[in-house]
Amino acid sequence: MTGRDEAAKRSGPFSLEAPIKTILTGDRPTGPLHLGHYVGSLKNRVQLQHQYRTFVLVADMQALTDNADNPAKVRQNVSEVALDYLAVGLDPKVSTFCVQSMLPELAELTMYYLNLVTVARLQRNPTVKEEFRRLQRAPADADEAQLRELEAQVPAGFLCYPVSQAADITAFKAHLVPVGEDQKPMIEQTVELVRSFNRIYGEVLVEPEALIPQIARLPGTDGQSKMGKSLGNAIYLSDPADVVAKKVRGMFTDPKHLRVEDPGRVEGNPVFTYLDAFDPDTAQVQALKEHYQRGGLGDTVVKRRLAEVLEAFLGPIRKRREEYARDPAEVMRLLKDGTDRARQVTASTLSAVRKAMHLDYWP
Ligand code: ATP
Ligand code: MG
Repeated sequence: MTGRDEAAKRSGPFSLEAPIKTILTGDRPTGPLHLGHYVGSLKNRVQLQHQYRTFVLVADMQALTDNADNPAKVRQNVSEVALDYLAVGLDPKVSTFCVQSMLPELAELTMYYLNLVTVARLQRNPTVKEEFRRLQRAPADADEAQLRELEAQVPAGFLCYPVSQAADITAFKAHLVPVGEDQKPMIEQTVELVRSFNRIYGEVLVEPEALIPQIARLPGTDGQSKMGKSLGNAIYLSDPADVVAKKVRGMFTDPKHLRVEDPGRVEGNPVFTYLDAFDPDTAQVQALKEHYQRGGLGDTVVKRRLAEVLEAFLGPIRKRREEYARDPAEVMRLLKDGTDRARQVTASTLSAVRKAMHLDYWP
């Protein structure tokens, strides 16, 4: 066994198949996780956790960038998000769960990286722009000048969160970041930061790559382009069966599909997108789509099928979640143990960064 393997073994109980590569992803504890998180990121994490050394970060500092006035909400959702991880099958014996604010190295790295990016570049980040609009509830027809004025009103921490995300990814020397499509610009910005850093201070940081699934962005139940915790259009992994059924019944479909015999549209119809994402019987989904497009298939029938499919998927997740929820102290212990292990890695990166930046004043 090489020294590197030994070091890797010490910092986490993951598979030792060489070469070990690292995954880092996370979620903001702004609410429980939903189907969009599963499709966009959780599914890949669960599948890859045995091949990659996996760190999963509950990004509470990032949640505070637009929830500074609601720390209790963030605190409460830290355990909710951890429960969702356990429920979908992230195994704490294999993946390392950690809490962002308990890893102070991440904040220090952010501070150094902030000097490597311009304010203009941050303002141009498409994810930040999209989130700005949502945060400020900008009218859809707002012109550039109005948007700029609104943007200037958001907290500086929010503008800078791509930098904090770069700190998270690089602190773990992550090679792969399984994320939904909305996060792609974040990884691109991290790569730019890594290149700047390595050019100026020497090759210390690892360039990450985004792992984006085929269904890269799950739409909301209202047909909006993204299911989001803060958008009121989500089906949560923890929703009870009757709530899921009700949400499915109320879903947006093709507004022009008024009578059963009318031909309907499948594109942009979230009911079919969800079937594509969750129905294992792809042949039947294809047949339903063709029937719907031809006419003669009512929304109620398709929705009934979707409700069944979702229940088959969510039932076991809900059950596991309930089991773990009985012991909140154990969930906190898992987070603490993981954070302690993660800290060995973030501390080692920070020390290499400080050395490269000539900030190693004394041992
Ligand atoms: P918030 O509204 O508070 O930002 P969110 O629902 O956007 O919450 P995040 O915590 O920002 O969730 O995202 C966590 C991860 O889940 C990211 O990798 C993101 O790309 C992915 N994700 C979130 N929503 C979706 C979605 N609708 N489709 C695909 N991936 C998604
Ligand atoms: Mg988000």
